[in-house]
Amino acid sequence: MEAKFGRTLTSEENVVRKFILSQTPTLGRVPSVVEISEEFSHVNKGKLEEILNELDRFDAIHPDESKTNIIAAYPFSGSATSHKVSFKRKEYKSIFAMCAIDALGIGFMFDSDVSIESLCFHCEEKIEIDVQDEEIISLNPKGTVVWCDMEYSKCAATSLCRKINFFSSDEHFERWQKGKSKRRGHLLQIAEAFYLGKLFFKERIN
Ligand SMILES: [Zn+2]
Repeated sequence: MEAKFGRTLTSEENVVRKFILSQTPTLGRVPSVVEISEEFSHVNKGKLEEILNELDRFDAIHPDESKTNIIAAYPFSGSATSHKVSFKRKEYKSIFAMCAIDALGIGFMFDSDVSIESLCFHCEEKIEIDVQDEEIISLNPKGTVVWCDMEYSKCAATSLCRKINFFSSDEHFERWQKGKSKRRGHLLQIAEAFYLGKLFFKERIN
């Protein structure tokens, strides 16, 4: 977790990581490797490749196999997910978050009110959350909870993150769980998940 937030990265690696994250809401998508190269044209090409490889190794970003597009720049997804975050700040476009807690935390990262649209992981019922002044001011359905599945822990972008999802109620989580082998994890109330989002993401790109 710390590595993804740049704690164990070099300052050069961290500058590239912060550029990728700060550009994502501006573009409404994760920047491509070409766009990153243009921004860092003063950096030797081999050196920049090395930096991107290190960010990949630390799970901060995941380029695709051809190394042209970034499929995930934690906490953003390069492709559509069921967690869409729209910013109230007009200069930002909506983006897709990797998981439910990421979706709840992204507003803290950019100091912006947000609207989150997601789906119940059991029945695909629409879930809508409005955040204003760092508070949830609207939640539909009211009983929405977040399940953090702990069966996967190696790589957040490819495994753990997709296992943190919204359910429209405790009951829908239980229905989803029923018949499956018992999974290790935590069922969080929305306020708890929101607090974790704040804890993980506030001031992470400052
Ligand atoms: Zn449901």
